[in-house]
Amino acid sequence: MMKEPLSNIRVRFAPSPTGPLHIGGVRTALYNYFFARRQGGSMILRIEDTDQQRFVPGAEAYIIESLRWAGIHFDEGPDMGGPFGPYRQSDRKDLYPRYAEELVKKDLAYYAFDTPEELDTLRKRLEAEKAPNTSYCAAVRLDMRNSLSLSTEETRALLEEGVPYVIRFKMPAREDISVDDEIRGTVTVNSATLDDKVLFKSDGMPTYHLANIVDDHLMEVTHVIRGEEWLPSLPLHYMLYQAFGWEPPVFAHLPLLLKPDGQGKLSKRDGDRLGFPVFPLQWTDPFSGEVSSGYRESGYYPEAFINFLALLGWNPGTEQEIFSMDELCGAFSLERVGRSGARFDLDKARSFNQHYLRLRPDDELAGVLMQGLKGRGITTNPEVAVKVVSLIRERAVFATDLLEQGLYFFEAPSDYDEKVVAKRWNEGTAGQMKALAGLLDGIAPWQSPVLEGAVKEWISAEGHNMGAVLNALRLCLVGTSAGPHLFDILDVLGKEESLARIARAVERLK
Ligand code: GLU
Repeated sequence: MMKEPLSNIRVRFAPSPTGPLHIGGVRTALYNYFFARRQGGSMILRIEDTDQQRFVPGAEAYIIESLRWAGIHFDEGPDMGGPFGPYRQSDRKDLYPRYAEELVKKDLAYYAFDTPEELDTLRKRLEAEKAPNTSYCAAVRLDMRNSLSLSTEETRALLEEGVPYVIRFKMPAREDISVDDEIRGTVTVNSATLDDKVLFKSDGMPTYHLANIVDDHLMEVTHVIRGEEWLPSLPLHYMLYQAFGWEPPVFAHLPLLLKPDGQGKLSKRDGDRLGFPVFPLQWTDPFSGEVSSGYRESGYYPEAFINFLALLGWNPGTEQEIFSMDELCGAFSLERVGRSGARFDLDKARSFNQHYLRLRPDDELAGVLMQGLKGRGITTNPEVAVKVVSLIRERAVFATDLLEQGLYFFEAPSDYDEKVVAKRWNEGTAGQMKALAGLLDGIAPWQSPVLEGAVKEWISAEGHNMGAVLNALRLCLVGTSAGPHLFDILDVLGKEESLARIARAVERLK
């Protein structure tokens, strides 16, 4: 059952299944989602797959799974249907030709029969002439083979013979085109710099431009919120609305997501080169088999992922940084989306994850730890796992860190950190440890505060250096200098295991 929208606001996320969804795309979907929820409107997913050459198998399913994982819900889309379907452009392909033809009839578009060689010749000629506009444009269209330069009869004959053709938009020769953008203000471009874009291709499919405008119109989209990379297409899109006599939607072009150093756009191709995922989920390229990492598989919680992504380009105007999805939907407005690119910040992303990890209950994290241990052939009971988690959880950024950071609770150190040994283990240490083991053996009950009181008292009474003894004991138990409160470690390990580890260290570090 579809929820009744509270308003007529309709937004869409319109990805092309040409590969995995980049996190910039997820951010676009998120902002659309916030906007729709805030306004009580509808959120549409439309798959723009008219470019058959760039189609990648598995990409659509990947996109849908990514959005679902991020918690972005759609009211209409290819997997749930809706009153304006179908929502996959390849399933709508019979619908587009008549719109292209309509523009030809209105003399706002034309048939073009130029071969690839002819187009190539044109481009070379214009480049050699250093023409201000080197594309197929108003200045040269009459030099080419199209229904504007040919007679009506010649054109009809070519069409009847089945000579391949495209339909091009007849861009006005010299006209200022001004379009309002919610984020950028008024954008003005002179049409002399634009080209006669292909609207309909010889393979019987519309281009992105035509299908996108027709569908936004038919699906009654009120706001087009999309990435800045589409800004250059805005004048053409606006002209297409004019040509059809349709009211254009409100446009908002979101700032780019930049690499951490601010040098350029964070692109799909950055893959794992920069040391962090650029895709929400892990992706295996179906052609090359190349695997790119994903936020989900890297251990990010979706709450953390959307929280940091939401702040890359939008700011709440307050100091608040932690937002739930509901809070984001309530707080978001296009007025607070910046114009300049937003730099990706890995430390920030990690710190958001740490924040959300800290909200998780011990038993959930213990489950992750036990799963990790199981993978290494170690079984433990939930009580111990919960105890360990409660001791080490503060430092973990990802739940999967718990295994690495807590492994010594379940597996005695197989070797000892050389630097720590050099610093903490000297001639008298073995003797001290043996004596300390003797003391520990007699302590009851085996509980952290009891152990702490007895051990510290003994060290003082013996006149040993407190730090030296405790650090050496830690080295025996953990194998290095890290870890939580030493007496808590003893407590969890239990007497037998603790004494065994001391004996082993004394033996090995001779
Ligand atoms: N299919 C386009 C893309 O892949 C959609 C652009 C738009 O939102 O108009 O990003």
